[in-house]
Amino acid sequence: MGMILEYIDYHLLPLSLLLAAIIFAVCCLGLYLGERRRARRIESEAAGERRFFGAFSVNRQEFFLLVRKRDLRIVYISPNFEEMTGINAELVCADIEVLKRLVSANTARNIVEQLKDWDGEQELKLEFDYRMPGADAEVTDCLEDPKADCEDAGKNRQRHGLVSLQSDEDSACYLVVFCDNTEDYKIRTTMKAELEQAYQESQAKTDFLSKMSHEIRTPMNGILGMLSLARSHVKDPRQTDYYLNRAESLSQFLLTLINDILDMSRIESGKMELEAVPFDLFKVAEKLDSMFRNTTEAKNIRWEIAMQDFDVSRVVGDELRLTQVIINFISNAVKFTPAGGAVTVTFRQMHKIDGNMHLMIRVRDTGKGIKADFISRIFRPFEQEDASTAHHYGGSGLGMAIADNIVKLMDGQIIVESEEGKGTEFVVYISLPIAGGEQIVPESWYDARPEEDTEDLKKAIEEFTLEGVRLLLAEDNDVNAEIAIEIMEMEGAVLERACDGLEAVRMFEESPEHGYDAILMDIQMPNMNGWEAAAQIRKSSRPDADIPIFAMSANAFVEDKRHSIEIGMNGHISKPVDYDEVRELVGEALLSHGRRDV
Ligand code: ADP
Repeated sequence: MGMILEYIDYHLLPLSLLLAAIIFAVCCLGLYLGERRRARRIESEAAGERRFFGAFSVNRQEFFLLVRKRDLRIVYISPNFEEMTGINAELVCADIEVLKRLVSANTARNIVEQLKDWDGEQELKLEFDYRMPGADAEVTDCLEDPKADCEDAGKNRQRHGLVSLQSDEDSACYLVVFCDNTEDYKIRTTMKAELEQAYQESQAKTDFLSKMSHEIRTPMNGILGMLSLARSHVKDPRQTDYYLNRAESLSQFLLTLINDILDMSRIESGKMELEAVPFDLFKVAEKLDSMFRNTTEAKNIRWEIAMQDFDVSRVVGDELRLTQVIINFISNAVKFTPAGGAVTVTFRQMHKIDGNMHLMIRVRDTGKGIKADFISRIFRPFEQEDASTAHHYGGSGLGMAIADNIVKLMDGQIIVESEEGKGTEFVVYISLPIAGGEQIVPESWYDARPEEDTEDLKKAIEEFTLEGVRLLLAEDNDVNAEIAIEIMEMEGAVLERACDGLEAVRMFEESPEHGYDAILMDIQMPNMNGWEAAAQIRKSSRPDADIPIFAMSANAFVEDKRHSIEIGMNGHISKPVDYDEVRELVGEALLSHGRRDV
């Protein structure tokens, strides 16, 4: 037995050891192969993930990183990182601190603190703004300067970073996504601003309409009230006359207000267009002088108008609109200056550059002045200094807004200076092209005043009446026709009426030569409007085809007036008709062209 055991011990032990070694080696090989397969699988999964992430990041405005929670090592960085940030990806992988360049010091501190405070239970989501040194030249420049404080660099872009936790295991990673919202942000900001502007414009329109309605109703109420009082006092001529006078002055005010409102709405809708036609600045001064000399004299205000430093007189621009602006300043100056005060108007040629004249027009008064806090509001529509202004001085507060808009359309500027109790100064600065052709420059505008014989003509026009004047009136509206005929016939005029443009042309053609002295032509009429009728008459072969024709129309815009002149009419009278104007225009047409003796 002992021998048998010895035999086995001697021969089989090495065999069993060999067997055990073989089994062990096979197991190890199995394990190794299993591990290799697992590693390959993991690697291929990781490669798949990388490919997926890579594909995901192509053409995107976002880039992202996976940061291992345990040791804050970057385990994945999207391929577009370098291109978008301008920072070397290897540099970031080697030292995560480099990432701090993307955020401000405050943001970096904030993120680190929130990560520290995180309890690991709740879902973690951090949002922050970041900047991109590679994309923002401003940031790059700043970061390259070691002394510069880059805290605010790149603030004009709106970017958003997001940190969230991918899994809560030990291998958990933070997913850090950087997303550039600048374009979205810009669109949103623009849309918001546009919406706000549209809202404000609509609000301003509503305010304007309600203010306008209020402003119109007030004098309208006065007019109706005065008419009703006049009727109830019809047996007392003095009282009736008083109420009618009040009604008339309120109507005049209402008319000015409506004209101002129309101008204002034309400006607001962008429909006011400026003309560019040569005109003479000395003639403008002359017109203003004859307009205000008598009024200021009657109010005992010293009136002065001066032309300074001119070596050219004719410029190109919108004479009517420029005159409208200055008239508004002068009217206010006269209105707000008491007797004994002074109103001075100065035109000065500043300098000439590249064929343009830089012009200063100053209207200065010694009146009541303007409170300092009102000056900043003076150009807003319907603004007056206080409630007592309208009561004492009338007006609606639109003149300044219109003047300001017209001067802005001319690329000019208005400067206001005023001292309460001392006076006010409005100065307009504009630049106008110098007109071609001959420039006749008087020494001062006093030299430009009319000659003796034109003084005679002026006097004759002032004294002119419609006595014996034969007029053709084209008017489709019966009430307007009745009023016009009655008023002018009372003065001795002889009127014939046409009910539309066609009839007016026919009546003119059938009349004996020089049978009419002048034609008063409504514009909006059926069958043929006034402009077409005037054009037909001008085309006629009759020797009196140049008969004075005046538009008499409710179309009151400057543009309408210009059109009447362009068509070949002699003038444009706006409705409601001022019969003094009719008399003056007809008188001038007849007297200055030898149709009547002066
Ligand atoms: P209105 O004269 O119809 O009231 P404006 O728009 O022309 O309207 O003027 C607005 C306001 O500006 C006036 O009501 C007045 O309070 C003030 N203002 C304008 N010009 C003068 C001036 N020369 N002196 C004093 N106040 C003035």
